[in-house]
Amino acid sequence: MEALNLLIDGRLVPGDLTMPVLNPATEETLAECPRASRAQLDSAVAAAKAAFPGWSARPIDERRQAIARIADTIEANAADLARLLTQEQGKPIADATGEVMGMAAFFRYFATLDLPMKVIEDGEGRRVEAHRRPLGVIGAIIPWNYPLLILSFKLPPALLAGNTLVVKPAPTTPLSTLKFAALIADLLPPGVINVIADANDLGDALTHHPDVRKISFTGSTATGRKVMASAAETLKRITLELGGNDAGVVLDDADPKTVAPGIFKGAFENSGQVCLAIKRLYVHESIYDELCSELAELANAAIVDDGLKQGTQLGPLQNRMQYEKVKGFLEDAKANGRIVAGGEVMDRPGYFVRPTIVRDIAEGSRLVDEEQFGPVLPVIKYSDSDEVIRRANATTYGLGASVWSSDPKRAYEVAGRIEAGTVWINKHLDMAPHIPFGGAKQSGLGVEFGEEGLAEFTQLQVINMAR
Ligand code: NAD
Repeated sequence: MEALNLLIDGRLVPGDLTMPVLNPATEETLAECPRASRAQLDSAVAAAKAAFPGWSARPIDERRQAIARIADTIEANAADLARLLTQEQGKPIADATGEVMGMAAFFRYFATLDLPMKVIEDGEGRRVEAHRRPLGVIGAIIPWNYPLLILSFKLPPALLAGNTLVVKPAPTTPLSTLKFAALIADLLPPGVINVIADANDLGDALTHHPDVRKISFTGSTATGRKVMASAAETLKRITLELGGNDAGVVLDDADPKTVAPGIFKGAFENSGQVCLAIKRLYVHESIYDELCSELAELANAAIVDDGLKQGTQLGPLQNRMQYEKVKGFLEDAKANGRIVAGGEVMDRPGYFVRPTIVRDIAEGSRLVDEEQFGPVLPVIKYSDSDEVIRRANATTYGLGASVWSSDPKRAYEVAGRIEAGTVWINKHLDMAPHIPFGGAKQSGLGVEFGEEGLAEFTQLQVINMAR
């Protein structure tokens, strides 16, 4: 594999340290990855700070063109990026290609947006205008489930608004991000984007850094709390996209055969390692047995293998820590429910777990109450629609949810009562760059995507003129 580097101040530089990155399908070392020292993190922040006045002063159209050029570069290198993504992340190559093309689509979308000045009042006594100004240096912290796609939630809106960035991927999936950095290094002035990699040891320094004005963070709720605490010192702006325990609620009038494939995909996409995956499925007692059987059939038929193999539907879990965590959830499923598909890790190298359907399980078990972030779905029986809304809401999370029914009016009424940032009807995980996305309760703070997401990378400035 080609040697990858950090991107600091427009230069591709080796890390002061290195670390191995493994392929989760083989557990073999994929690459020795450069790893930044604390001094290199400081250089990256200093470079972003120095680049800010120049970058923010450019006309927005120039910044837009730069973002569109990055989209071109991503598309032109999609095959290489996707292959590396599969090798380090584990997902099937078709999904990795989808992630890379999705990344390009986010760049394309933000390249069409504007930040127009708004006239609030233009009267006899005064003229009042609202402007959107850039913030300064942004720290972008990324998890390991969608390393490239989640980067594209943050990078293009931050750039469009005139900010500069220090990007930090997760320690187990830094390679595709560093490859991306190498591809775009010459497309922007030095220091506008800096990319470092760490071994889980520099996130804290980045969030504490006095020269960073905002942290855009995606990751677990536990780490999100730490980010919020350290941002408090300098009152940094924060956007937090955190964990979830999304409920799927299947009403009694849903047809099990019709809804099962969409539910399966909503729960098992990316081997369940999706913040917005269905993580608890509530099914009305009248269709419970039938839907459990349909889901078990889909789980048994799924092809779980190395993501580079043609035809693979589900790859391994991304890292050993997550694999061990999911094994714990399988133990809980055995003790507190009845496994009707999967239930075991696969007897081969790599972090493979077959998709698992667990029935006759309820609240009080870890699998229902906590975020499993893996391919193990608890299916919970209910009998009353008011009661199921209460149970769906009985969580500290509030990221997404879905309602499944053949009566759109009934589903709509239930959807409005669920405490979540996004509620889908008869689908799950349908997202697009122009549709705002954010968590309720402890699933996050702030919004990404759309004009609302762009606004979070700006400071509102009012200019109030005497007349
Ligand atoms: P994580 O919180 O362990 O790590 C996320 C990132 O934070 C990594 O880059 C990590 O190095 C960094 N980090 C670690 N300690 C830090 C600190 N003290 N300060 C700042 N940064 C620090 O999460 P993960 O295990 O990589 O990802 C899985 C979690 O992310 C799940 O809970 C999932 O639901 C959540 N997630 C949420 C979304 C969303 O948009 N809401 C999307 C994807 C994943």
